[in-house]
Amino acid sequence: MSIRQTQGRGQRYDTILDAVGDTPVIRINRIAPSNVNMFVKFEAFNPGGSVKDRLALNIIEAAERDGRLRPGQTVVEATSGNTGIGLAMVCAAKGYPLVVTMAESFSVERRRLMRFLGAKVVLTPKALKGFGMYSKAKELAEENGWFLASQFETADNANIHENTTAREILADFADTKLDYWVTGYGTGGTVSGVARVLRRDRPETKIILAEPANAAIVSSGYTNTRNEANQPTEGHPHFEPHPIQGWTPDFIPFVLQEAIDNGFYDELLKVPGPDGITWSRRLAAEEGIFTGISAGATFAAAVKIAETAPEGANILVMLPDTGERYLSTPLFDGIAEVMTDEEWEISHSTPGAQMAKD
Ligand code: PMP
Repeated sequence: MSIRQTQGRGQRYDTILDAVGDTPVIRINRIAPSNVNMFVKFEAFNPGGSVKDRLALNIIEAAERDGRLRPGQTVVEATSGNTGIGLAMVCAAKGYPLVVTMAESFSVERRRLMRFLGAKVVLTPKALKGFGMYSKAKELAEENGWFLASQFETADNANIHENTTAREILADFADTKLDYWVTGYGTGGTVSGVARVLRRDRPETKIILAEPANAAIVSSGYTNTRNEANQPTEGHPHFEPHPIQGWTPDFIPFVLQEAIDNGFYDELLKVPGPDGITWSRRLAAEEGIFTGISAGATFAAAVKIAETAPEGANILVMLPDTGERYLSTPLFDGIAEVMTDEEWEISHSTPGAQMAKD
Protein backbone atom coordinates (compact mmCIF):
# COMPACT_ATOMS: atom_id res chain seq x y z
CA MET A 1 0.00 0.00 0.00
CA SER A 2 1.42 3.40 -0.90
CA ILE A 3 1.97 6.16 1.66
CA ARG A 4 -0.96 8.59 1.82
CA GLN A 5 -0.38 12.20 0.91
CA THR A 6 -2.80 15.09 0.51
CA GLN A 7 -2.63 18.06 -1.86
CA GLY A 8 -4.90 20.70 -0.29
CA ARG A 9 -7.94 21.98 -2.08
CA GLY A 10 -5.97 24.46 -4.10
CA GLN A 11 -8.09 27.38 -2.95
CA ARG A 12 -8.85 29.59 0.04
CA TYR A 13 -12.53 29.94 0.92
CA ASP A 14 -13.95 33.43 1.46
CA THR A 15 -16.54 32.17 3.97
CA ILE A 16 -17.56 28.94 5.72
CA LEU A 17 -20.60 29.01 3.42
CA ASP A 18 -18.44 28.21 0.40
CA ALA A 19 -17.67 24.88 2.03
CA VAL A 20 -21.31 23.72 1.76
CA GLY A 21 -21.94 20.83 -0.65
CA ASP A 22 -19.59 18.63 -2.69
CA THR A 23 -19.91 15.88 -0.10
CA PRO A 24 -18.13 12.59 -0.79
CA VAL A 25 -19.64 9.38 -2.14
CA ILE A 26 -18.08 6.48 -0.22
CA ARG A 27 -18.13 2.72 -0.87
CA ILE A 28 -19.49 0.42 1.83
CA ASN A 29 -17.00 -2.40 2.26
CA ARG A 30 -17.91 -4.62 5.22
CA ILE A 31 -21.69 -4.50 5.75
CA ALA A 32 -22.97 -4.35 2.18
CA PRO A 33 -24.76 -7.45 0.84
CA SER A 34 -22.25 -9.24 -1.42
CA ASN A 35 -24.42 -9.20 -4.58
CA VAL A 36 -24.37 -5.39 -4.92
CA ASN A 37 -22.09 -2.34 -4.70
CA MET A 38 -23.31 0.03 -2.04
CA PHE A 39 -22.26 3.62 -1.79
CA VAL A 40 -23.28 6.39 0.60
CA LYS A 41 -23.40 10.13 0.02
CA PHE A 42 -22.22 11.39 3.39
CA GLU A 43 -23.84 14.75 4.12
CA ALA A 44 -22.13 15.07 7.52
CA PHE A 45 -19.23 16.57 5.54
CA ASN A 46 -21.20 19.82 5.23
CA PRO A 47 -19.79 22.41 7.68
CA GLY A 48 -22.96 22.35 9.83
CA GLY A 49 -22.91 18.56 9.81
CA SER A 50 -26.01 17.87 7.71
CA VAL A 51 -27.72 17.98 4.33
CA LYS A 52 -29.76 20.95 5.56
CA ASP A 53 -26.83 23.33 5.22
CA ARG A 54 -27.61 23.33 1.51
CA LEU A 55 -31.21 24.41 2.00
CA ALA A 56 -30.38 26.93 4.73
CA LEU A 57 -27.84 28.65 2.52
CA ASN A 58 -30.19 28.80 -0.45
CA ILE A 59 -33.20 30.03 1.53
CA ILE A 60 -31.17 32.98 2.80
CA GLU A 61 -29.31 33.75 -0.43
CA ALA A 62 -32.37 33.44 -2.71
CA ALA A 63 -34.29 35.79 -0.37
CA GLU A 64 -31.35 38.22 -0.33
CA ARG A 65 -31.21 38.19 -4.14
CA ASP A 66 -34.88 39.05 -4.66
CA GLY A 67 -35.28 41.38 -1.66
CA ARG A 68 -37.58 39.20 0.48
CA LEU A 69 -34.96 39.38 3.24
CA ARG A 70 -33.77 42.81 4.37
CA PRO A 71 -30.35 43.45 5.92
CA GLY A 72 -30.53 42.75 9.66
CA GLN A 73 -34.06 41.32 9.52
CA THR A 74 -34.77 38.48 11.97
CA VAL A 75 -35.16 35.03 10.42
CA VAL A 76 -37.59 32.54 12.03
CA GLU A 77 -38.22 28.86 11.33
CA ALA A 78 -39.76 25.72 12.82
CA THR A 79 -37.20 22.96 12.76
CA SER A 80 -36.37 19.70 14.48
CA GLY A 81 -32.73 20.64 14.42
CA ASN A 82 -30.68 20.22 11.30
CA THR A 83 -32.34 23.09 9.43
CA GLY A 84 -31.98 25.19 12.56
CA ILE A 85 -28.29 24.37 12.85
CA GLY A 86 -27.78 25.11 9.15
CA LEU A 87 -29.71 28.38 9.40
CA ALA A 88 -27.83 29.31 12.58
CA MET A 89 -24.53 28.80 10.78
CA VAL A 90 -25.65 30.84 7.76
CA CYS A 91 -27.20 33.61 9.89
CA ALA A 92 -24.07 33.76 12.07
CA ALA A 93 -21.82 34.07 9.03
CA LYS A 94 -24.02 36.74 7.43
CA GLY A 95 -25.14 38.60 10.56
CA TYR A 96 -28.89 37.92 10.72
CA PRO A 97 -30.65 37.26 14.08
CA LEU A 98 -32.35 33.83 14.10
CA VAL A 99 -35.27 32.47 16.15
CA VAL A 100 -36.00 28.75 15.93
CA THR A 101 -39.17 27.08 17.21
CA MET A 102 -38.80 23.45 18.18
CA ALA A 103 -40.94 20.80 19.89
CA GLU A 104 -39.56 19.98 23.34
CA SER A 105 -39.28 16.29 22.34
CA PHE A 106 -36.23 16.76 20.11
CA SER A 107 -32.74 16.08 21.41
CA VAL A 108 -31.20 18.49 23.89
CA GLU A 109 -27.89 18.74 22.05
CA ARG A 110 -29.71 20.19 19.06
CA ARG A 111 -31.07 23.08 21.12
CA ARG A 112 -27.67 23.74 22.65
CA LEU A 113 -25.93 23.59 19.29
CA MET A 114 -28.25 26.23 17.85
CA ARG A 115 -27.83 28.46 20.87
CA PHE A 116 -24.07 28.00 20.63
CA LEU A 117 -24.30 29.24 17.04
CA GLY A 118 -26.08 32.37 18.29
CA ALA A 119 -29.73 31.46 17.67
CA LYS A 120 -32.68 31.78 20.06
CA VAL A 121 -34.58 28.51 20.53
CA VAL A 122 -38.28 28.72 21.52
CA LEU A 123 -39.66 25.35 22.66
CA THR A 124 -43.24 24.26 21.94
CA PRO A 125 -45.27 21.58 23.82
CA LYS A 126 -44.69 17.97 22.77
CA ALA A 127 -48.46 17.36 22.72
CA LEU A 128 -48.87 19.83 19.85
CA LYS A 129 -46.39 17.81 17.73
CA GLY A 130 -44.69 19.22 14.61
CA PHE A 131 -47.79 21.20 13.82
CA GLY A 132 -47.43 23.21 17.06
CA MET A 133 -43.88 24.37 16.43
CA TYR A 134 -44.83 25.19 12.91
CA SER A 135 -47.84 27.37 13.81
CA LYS A 136 -45.71 29.14 16.42
CA ALA A 137 -43.06 30.12 13.84
CA LYS A 138 -45.75 31.39 11.50
CA GLU A 139 -47.41 33.43 14.25
CA LEU A 140 -44.08 34.96 15.36
CA ALA A 141 -43.26 35.91 11.76
CA GLU A 142 -46.66 37.52 11.18
CA GLU A 143 -46.76 39.48 14.43
CA ASN A 144 -43.13 40.67 14.36
CA GLY A 145 -42.54 41.15 10.63
CA TRP A 146 -39.83 38.48 10.64
CA PHE A 147 -38.71 36.48 7.61
CA LEU A 148 -40.20 32.97 7.76
CA ALA A 149 -37.79 30.54 6.10
CA SER A 150 -40.67 28.19 5.11
CA GLN A 151 -38.56 25.13 4.39
CA PHE A 152 -41.70 23.00 3.82
CA GLU A 153 -43.13 25.26 1.09
CA THR A 154 -40.37 27.27 -0.53
CA ALA A 155 -39.13 26.55 -4.05
CA ASP A 156 -35.64 27.40 -2.76
CA ASN A 157 -35.57 23.99 -1.03
CA ALA A 158 -35.80 21.50 -3.92
CA ASN A 159 -34.01 23.96 -6.24
CA ILE A 160 -30.77 23.74 -4.26
CA HIS A 161 -30.82 19.94 -4.47
CA GLU A 162 -31.43 20.19 -8.22
CA ASN A 163 -28.47 22.57 -8.52
CA THR A 164 -26.04 20.92 -6.10
CA THR A 165 -26.84 17.44 -4.70
CA ALA A 166 -28.10 16.09 -8.02
CA ARG A 167 -25.19 17.52 -10.04
CA GLU A 168 -22.72 16.00 -7.59
CA ILE A 169 -24.38 12.57 -7.97
CA LEU A 170 -24.28 12.81 -11.77
CA ALA A 171 -20.61 13.78 -11.67
CA ASP A 172 -19.63 11.06 -9.21
CA PHE A 173 -21.41 8.38 -11.26
CA ALA A 174 -20.47 9.82 -14.68
CA ASP A 175 -18.35 6.80 -15.55
CA THR A 176 -20.68 4.07 -14.33
CA LYS A 177 -24.34 3.15 -14.02
CA LEU A 178 -26.43 4.10 -11.02
CA ASP A 179 -29.13 1.48 -10.55
CA TYR A 180 -30.76 2.77 -7.37
CA TRP A 181 -30.79 6.02 -5.44
CA VAL A 182 -32.31 5.68 -1.96
CA THR A 183 -33.57 8.52 0.26
CA GLY A 184 -36.03 9.34 3.01
CA TYR A 185 -37.89 12.60 3.31
CA GLY A 186 -38.45 15.35 5.83
CA THR A 187 -39.49 18.35 3.80
CA GLY A 188 -39.03 16.34 0.61
CA GLY A 189 -36.48 18.82 -0.75
CA THR A 190 -33.83 16.18 -1.32
CA VAL A 191 -36.09 13.77 -3.20
CA SER A 192 -37.95 16.39 -5.27
CA GLY A 193 -34.79 18.25 -6.31
CA VAL A 194 -32.57 15.27 -7.04
CA ALA A 195 -35.37 13.34 -8.77
CA ARG A 196 -36.00 16.18 -11.24
CA VAL A 197 -32.48 15.65 -12.53
CA LEU A 198 -32.30 11.85 -12.30
CA ARG A 199 -35.58 11.44 -14.19
CA ARG A 200 -34.26 13.72 -16.95
CA ASP A 201 -30.62 12.65 -17.18
CA ARG A 202 -30.53 9.14 -15.67
CA PRO A 203 -33.99 7.68 -16.40
CA GLU A 204 -32.64 4.16 -15.79
CA THR A 205 -31.94 4.97 -12.11
CA LYS A 206 -34.65 3.63 -9.82
CA ILE A 207 -35.58 6.06 -7.06
CA ILE A 208 -36.45 4.48 -3.72
CA LEU A 209 -38.28 6.57 -1.14
CA ALA A 210 -38.51 5.45 2.50
CA GLU A 211 -40.71 6.51 5.41
CA PRO A 212 -41.24 5.32 9.02
CA ALA A 213 -43.36 2.15 9.28
CA ASN A 214 -45.57 3.69 11.97
CA ALA A 215 -45.95 7.04 10.18
CA ALA A 216 -46.36 5.87 6.59
CA ILE A 217 -48.26 8.97 5.57
CA VAL A 218 -47.35 8.84 1.86
CA SER A 219 -48.21 5.12 1.65
CA SER A 220 -51.61 5.93 3.20
CA GLY A 221 -52.68 7.80 0.07
CA TYR A 222 -54.32 10.57 2.14
CA THR A 223 -53.19 14.13 1.42
CA ASN A 224 -53.69 16.71 4.17
CA THR A 225 -55.35 20.00 3.37
CA ARG A 226 -53.24 23.15 2.77
CA ASN A 227 -54.00 26.88 2.71
CA GLU A 228 -53.33 29.36 -0.12
CA ALA A 229 -49.71 29.68 1.08
CA ASN A 230 -49.35 25.87 0.70
CA GLN A 231 -49.01 25.47 4.45
CA PRO A 232 -50.74 22.46 6.06
CA THR A 233 -54.02 23.23 7.79
CA GLU A 234 -54.31 19.88 9.62
CA GLY A 235 -52.10 17.13 10.99
CA HIS A 236 -51.97 13.89 9.00
CA PRO A 237 -54.31 11.21 10.41
CA HIS A 238 -51.80 8.41 9.70
CA PHE A 239 -48.94 10.08 11.57
CA GLU A 240 -47.58 8.61 14.79
CA PRO A 241 -44.47 9.77 16.68
CA HIS A 242 -41.42 7.84 15.42
CA PRO A 243 -37.74 7.78 16.44
CA ILE A 244 -36.36 8.76 13.04
CA GLN A 245 -35.62 12.45 13.72
CA GLY A 246 -35.66 14.59 10.60
CA TRP A 247 -37.91 12.21 8.68
CA THR A 248 -41.66 12.52 8.07
CA PRO A 249 -43.33 15.40 9.89
CA ASP A 250 -47.01 15.03 10.85
CA PHE A 251 -48.15 16.36 7.48
CA ILE A 252 -47.24 15.92 3.81
CA PRO A 253 -45.20 19.03 2.96
CA PHE A 254 -45.87 20.96 -0.24
CA VAL A 255 -42.22 20.48 -1.27
CA LEU A 256 -42.70 16.69 -1.09
CA GLN A 257 -45.99 16.85 -2.99
CA GLU A 258 -44.01 17.54 -6.19
CA ALA A 259 -42.35 14.11 -5.87
CA ILE A 260 -45.70 12.41 -5.24
CA ASP A 261 -47.51 14.17 -8.10
CA ASN A 262 -44.73 13.49 -10.61
CA GLY A 263 -44.14 9.84 -9.69
CA PHE A 264 -40.59 10.71 -8.66
CA TYR A 265 -40.09 7.36 -6.92
CA ASP A 266 -40.31 3.78 -8.18
CA GLU A 267 -40.77 2.16 -4.78
CA LEU A 268 -41.94 3.38 -1.41
CA LEU A 269 -40.60 1.40 1.56
CA LYS A 270 -41.66 1.42 5.22
CA VAL A 271 -38.81 1.24 7.72
CA PRO A 272 -39.36 0.38 11.42
CA GLY A 273 -37.56 2.84 13.70
CA PRO A 274 -35.45 0.14 15.43
CA ASP A 275 -34.00 -0.88 12.02
CA GLY A 276 -32.74 2.68 11.55
CA ILE A 277 -30.97 2.50 14.91
CA THR A 278 -29.47 -0.94 14.13
CA TRP A 279 -28.04 0.14 10.77
CA SER A 280 -26.77 3.47 12.07
CA ARG A 281 -24.84 1.55 14.76
CA ARG A 282 -23.48 -0.91 12.20
CA LEU A 283 -22.38 1.91 9.87
CA ALA A 284 -20.41 3.40 12.77
CA ALA A 285 -18.98 0.24 14.32
CA GLU A 286 -18.28 -1.74 11.14
CA GLU A 287 -17.59 0.94 8.51
CA GLY A 288 -16.38 3.89 10.61
CA ILE A 289 -19.21 6.02 9.24
CA PHE A 290 -20.73 7.95 12.15
CA THR A 291 -24.18 9.06 11.08
CA GLY A 292 -27.72 9.61 12.38
CA ILE A 293 -30.87 7.52 12.72
CA SER A 294 -32.46 8.66 9.45
CA ALA A 295 -29.27 7.60 7.67
CA GLY A 296 -29.52 4.17 9.29
CA ALA A 297 -33.17 3.98 8.23
CA THR A 298 -32.30 4.94 4.64
CA PHE A 299 -29.56 2.32 4.69
CA ALA A 300 -32.07 -0.27 5.99
CA ALA A 301 -34.28 0.48 2.96
CA ALA A 302 -31.27 0.03 0.66
CA VAL A 303 -30.45 -3.35 2.22
CA LYS A 304 -34.06 -4.42 1.47
CA ILE A 305 -33.65 -3.26 -2.13
CA ALA A 306 -30.39 -5.22 -2.42
CA GLU A 307 -32.32 -8.45 -1.73
CA THR A 308 -33.99 -8.28 -5.15
CA ALA A 309 -31.47 -6.10 -7.02
CA PRO A 310 -29.65 -7.53 -10.04
CA GLU A 311 -26.12 -8.90 -9.44
CA GLY A 312 -23.56 -6.09 -9.38
CA ALA A 313 -26.12 -3.29 -9.04
CA ASN A 314 -24.83 0.11 -7.87
CA ILE A 315 -26.90 1.51 -5.01
CA LEU A 316 -26.40 5.03 -3.65
CA VAL A 317 -27.78 5.82 -0.19
CA MET A 318 -28.24 9.32 1.25
CA LEU A 319 -26.81 9.74 4.78
CA PRO A 320 -28.27 13.10 5.92
CA ASP A 321 -26.22 13.91 9.02
CA THR A 322 -23.63 13.18 11.70
CA GLY A 323 -24.25 10.80 14.59
CA GLU A 324 -22.85 13.29 17.10
CA ARG A 325 -26.27 14.92 17.11
CA TYR A 326 -27.85 11.89 18.82
CA LEU A 327 -25.88 11.38 22.04
CA SER A 328 -28.99 11.81 24.23
CA THR A 329 -31.33 9.78 22.00
CA PRO A 330 -32.18 6.05 21.76
CA LEU A 331 -29.32 5.71 19.23
CA PHE A 332 -26.93 5.68 22.20
CA ASP A 333 -29.06 3.49 24.52
CA GLY A 334 -26.86 0.77 25.97
CA ILE A 335 -23.62 2.58 25.07
CA ALA A 336 -21.93 2.44 28.46
CA GLU A 337 -20.34 5.36 30.31
CA VAL A 338 -18.61 3.10 32.83
CA MET A 339 -16.28 0.21 31.96
CA THR A 340 -17.93 -2.95 30.68
CA ASP A 341 -16.94 -6.43 31.93
CA GLU A 342 -14.82 -6.91 28.83
CA GLU A 343 -13.03 -3.61 29.44
CA TRP A 344 -12.37 -4.57 33.10
CA GLU A 345 -10.86 -7.80 31.87
CA ILE A 346 -8.52 -5.95 29.49
CA SER A 347 -7.56 -3.57 32.29
CA HIS A 348 -6.71 -6.47 34.62
CA SER A 349 -4.81 -8.44 32.00
CA THR A 350 -1.65 -6.36 32.68
CA PRO A 351 -0.45 -4.95 36.05
CA GLY A 352 -0.14 -1.20 35.28
CA ALA A 353 -2.64 1.67 35.86
CA GLN A 354 -5.59 -0.41 36.97
CA MET A 355 -8.78 1.25 38.20
CA ALA A 356 -10.01 0.29 41.65
CA LYS A 357 -13.42 -1.40 41.59
CA ASP A 358 -15.74 0.24 44.15
N1 PMP B 1 -32.72 13.21 7.83
C1 PMP B 1 -32.47 14.19 8.69
C2 PMP B 1 -31.71 13.88 9.95
C3 PMP B 1 -32.93 15.48 8.42
O1 PMP B 1 -32.70 16.46 9.30
C4 PMP B 1 -33.66 15.71 7.22
C5 PMP B 1 -34.19 17.08 6.95
N2 PMP B 1 -35.33 17.41 7.72
C6 PMP B 1 -33.91 14.66 6.35
C7 PMP B 1 -33.40 13.43 6.69
C8 PMP B 1 -34.74 14.80 5.10
O2 PMP B 1 -34.34 15.76 4.16
P1 PMP B 1 -35.38 16.61 3.31
O3 PMP B 1 -35.96 17.67 4.22
O4 PMP B 1 -34.58 17.20 2.20
O5 PMP B 1 -36.47 15.71 2.82
